Amino acid sequence: MTDASRSVPLLRPLMGDEEADAARRVILSGWITQGPEVAAFEDDFADYVGSQHACAVSNCTTALHLALLAVGVQPGDEVITVSHSYIATANAIRYCGAEPVFVDIEADTKNIDPASIAAAITDRTSAVLCVHQVGMPCDLAAVLDVTNAHDLPLVEDAACAIGSEILWNGTWEKIGRAHGAIACFSFHPRKVMTTGDGGMLTTNDSSYDARFRLLRQHGMSVSDRERHAATDIIFEEHSVLGFNYRMTDIQASIGREQLKRMDGIIAERRRLAALYDMLLADIEGVTTPIEPDWARSNWQSYLLGLPDWADQREFMQGLLDRGIASRRGIMCSHRERPYEGEHDLPVSEWAQDRHVVLPLFPTMHDDDVRAVVDAVGSTLDAR
Ligand SMILES: *Cc1c(COP(=O)(O)O)cnc(C)c1O
Repeated sequence: MTDASRSVPLLRPLMGDEEADAARRVILSGWITQGPEVAAFEDDFADYVGSQHACAVSNCTTALHLALLAVGVQPGDEVITVSHSYIATANAIRYCGAEPVFVDIEADTKNIDPASIAAAITDRTSAVLCVHQVGMPCDLAAVLDVTNAHDLPLVEDAACAIGSEILWNGTWEKIGRAHGAIACFSFHPRKVMTTGDGGMLTTNDSSYDARFRLLRQHGMSVSDRERHAATDIIFEEHSVLGFNYRMTDIQASIGREQLKRMDGIIAERRRLAALYDMLLADIEGVTTPIEPDWARSNWQSYLLGLPDWADQREFMQGLLDRGIASRRGIMCSHRERPYEGEHDLPVSEWAQDRHVVLPLFPTMHDDDVRAVVDAVGSTLDAR
């Protein structure tokens, strides 16, 4: 039965001496930002996902901004995306002066409904921004059928999807391996690997990659590494409006150590999710997440569906009273002030209101999972 003394947080990043030693090495090296560690992290990351290029930036929101600019999104354009996502997805579109056009999600995967994209296309649409929500791959093949038919670039918000895989022409491939035009990743501690804050863009298009590198450092024509290696004096130019979206070498060195842990982290997250599935099957009325047979999630989050009669806030309070942290379902951007207006997104709203994120992190013990499931059961029974 429930161990009353066992409290379970929502997450705990897995970091150790390797990360601490790497950061110390960089701090003492004399090169602290966008230097050799950032370049090495980019190479490691491209190898990991199987893309030709990877460009490190300050976070995933800035990655999304650069990706949308690179594919040509301009003021007055429309970009088709989901409301059911962290608000950064929609915000990145606004940063380009464009407007997000929200389409609804599928009830089972809680990802963009490919069938609703075509109807949302207008002559102002300049890109589609899909999301692999909570690490569950969206139906890329179906989404790409629509974007290719309309000659629209597809940007993937893969903030949560490091190490997630999709079955592609009979082979399991990592998200980020150039399925769409560009994929964007986050290294915030809430994601599956972390550098504190941080982001990465992957692509197979060298002109996009060159664009990211120009824009992430104030539009400057010469990189710090080029100048450092040069034997002649070089004067730089700033030919376009750029940004400061740099990643530091301290962050990159931590990221390289985190990448080495990824296979172990994802195997453990998948094992814990399967344990949740098994134990929750005994609790009446709840629903567990669905993983299509063409997808392998990294289980960045585990979304529990509530019984029809259960109140979300009361349920979460019941868990908290039993020492278990939780969060409500993924937010809907159209319910926030910056995106208020006329929207018809019933599945997105249902997903936010009728689901709860349960704790899931790689150092979690089986007994923690049992404690969470016991708390779910007793909270529902106590009504
Ligand atoms: C976390 C998240 C972001 C933002 O990532 P940051 O690195 O915090 O900027 C964007 N999109 C989705 C889907 C996310 O979950």
